[in-house]
Parts: sequence; structure tokens; C-alpha cells
Amino acid sequence: MTNATDVELDVEGAQRALRELLRDETITVSEVGDESSRRARLETAVEYRTLARVVSKPTDQVTDPPRDLATMLWDVPAKPEDPFLDEPRAVIEEPKSGAITECPACVGKGEAPCDKCGGTTRVPCESCNGAGYVNDTKGASKLCRFCSGNKMQPCAKCKLGTLPCKSCKSSGQAFTIQRITVSWHTHKESSVVALAPPEVPLDGLAPVVSLAARNERGPLTDDQLAALSPAVKLAAQRLLGEHPLPDNGRIRSQTLLIERVPVYLVTYTQKGKSHTVRFVGSPARPLGLSPPATSVMYTLALLVIVASAVAALYVTGIVRHH
Ligand SMILES: [Zn+2]
Ligand SMILES: [Zn+2]
Ligand SMILES: [Zn+2]
Repeated sequence: MTNATDVELDVEGAQRALRELLRDETITVSEVGDESSRRARLETAVEYRTLARVVSKPTDQVTDPPRDLATMLWDVPAKPEDPFLDEPRAVIEEPKSGAITECPACVGKGEAPCDKCGGTTRVPCESCNGAGYVNDTKGASKLCRFCSGNKMQPCAKCKLGTLPCKSCKSSGQAFTIQRITVSWHTHKESSVVALAPPEVPLDGLAPVVSLAARNERGPLTDDQLAALSPAVKLAAQRLLGEHPLPDNGRIRSQTLLIERVPVYLVTYTQKGKSHTVRFVGSPARPLGLSPPATSVMYTLALLVIVASAVAALYVTGIVRHH
């Protein structure tokens, strides 16, 4: 499960492939080097919880003591049970926590910023849509008579940028209850671990995806990271370090996937000479290797036919010109 360096091409496999391809049983492979390009992908499912008091209809007097959601913020079960599939949000309320408190909508001020002008007391001129000018019937533009070109007009909804708070009817006090808002988000980060030489075409090659590590009950553990190969471990640590999570979030599960585009450097000996060839893709195929003997003979035969045809035409041309 933690084997992220699942190399598919070994010395025997490369030798068998080369002997068959070049029709030469004397070929000997001495080494298969792994030049695969690897991309580490870290998927972190995070749950966020925030606690606030929200305005509520007054509840009946109750004798049971209310739950204090502030002390059990992360312990209250949230519905849906599997947050990573359907509902993106959930709320947990404690109706018995009702009390007269400062109004959360206006923070006890009794008034809130005007929702029409945002507290600025001015809105775009309705006559010219905030342009400052209007077009007359002949298409010529002229100064807007209502705003005199100022583009703005006073807000008709408020006088000083504020409106009476509806939640508390301007009293600054309201009946509120505790509410936890739960939301979930999966962060996906990726990092390229290693690359094959630039001349190797990787674009058309599908990556082999393997699971490097997964913790379904929290963040990846040090033990899980220790089991990874050094390059993958380094990438995982970099991904974990680069993206610290906000204070109000907790990791619910974490998965490290490795995408590998296979590239192997094969060293072999043929007729006393040493050569190298790259095998790419999965299953691995040799890249830029001389074609087998049959193809060479076919190409030569074709060249002879083309050459004689050209010669014939040339001779015909000479005859015609004299
Ligand atoms: Zn209020
Ligand atoms: Zn206003
Ligand atoms: Zn205007």
C-alpha cells in the first residue's frame, strides 16, 4: 500500500524486449535506471466549524440544562454523516441555550448600515445610471439634469447611512441561541517530484496512479510519511508545509496519491558495444530505437524501387531534349 515506486520494467524484461525487437539473442542488458516523472497529489478533507449566537424566536422556559456548544464545538455530531458527498453545510443549534443577549446583527448598536447605500449615504444616479450624462433624441450626450454630472444622488432609504436594526427593533438586545455552522472542503494540492530529461516526450503518456498513503480518520501520520520513498516523502512534507490550515478547520481525512509517467534508461551491450535506450509509458516501449532488421530490408527495397523509377524518368527526359 505504501509502495509508490512500483517500477514495472526490470533487467530481465528489458532484455527480453530488446532481444525480440532487434532479433538478436546475444543482447545483454546491464542496467535499468528509473527516470520516471512523478507528481505527488495531496487531498485534504477539512471540516470547518464556527460558533455564533443567532437571533431566534423565544423558546419556552426549560428545566434541562442546555448543552454548552462552545465547550463541545468538535464533539457534537454533525449531519449529514458523510459530509464529503452531498450537503456542503450543516448547522447544529441548541434551542435551550436561549438568552437575551447583545443583538448579533447590529452588535448591540440598535442600528445597522443601510443595505441600499452600504452606509455611504449616496447611490448611483437613477436618471443617468451613474454615467453623469444622458443621450438626447438626436443621440448627442448632455449633462444629466438630476445629478448635474455628479453621477451620484443622495440615498433615499436612509439619512445618515444607517437604518434601525430589524433583528432587535433598535433595542440592541435580542433573544439568541448558540449555533455551530459546519462546512466541509477538500483541498487538492500537487507537486512534481522528479522529471525525465526534457527531450523525452511525456505529453502523450498516461500516468500510472498509485496510492501512497491515506488516513481516513485524520491527517497523515509521521509513521505513514516515514514509510514513503525519500523523494515522495519530501514532496509530501512540502505539500503539507506549504498549506497550513485555518484555525477553525480540522483535517478529517488525508490522501497522498502519486502519478507516475514511466521512463526507464536501459543500458545494453550488442556485438561488444554498449548502448542506451529509453523505454517510456506503461507498458514500457523503447523510444527512438533503430527498427528491426525486417523493417530495414523493407525500407531498402522501397528505396531501390524509387531510385530506379527516378532514373527511368531522367533518361526519358534526356531523350526528349535531344
Ligand atoms: Zn440589532
Ligand atoms: Zn442609505
Ligand atoms: Zn444623473
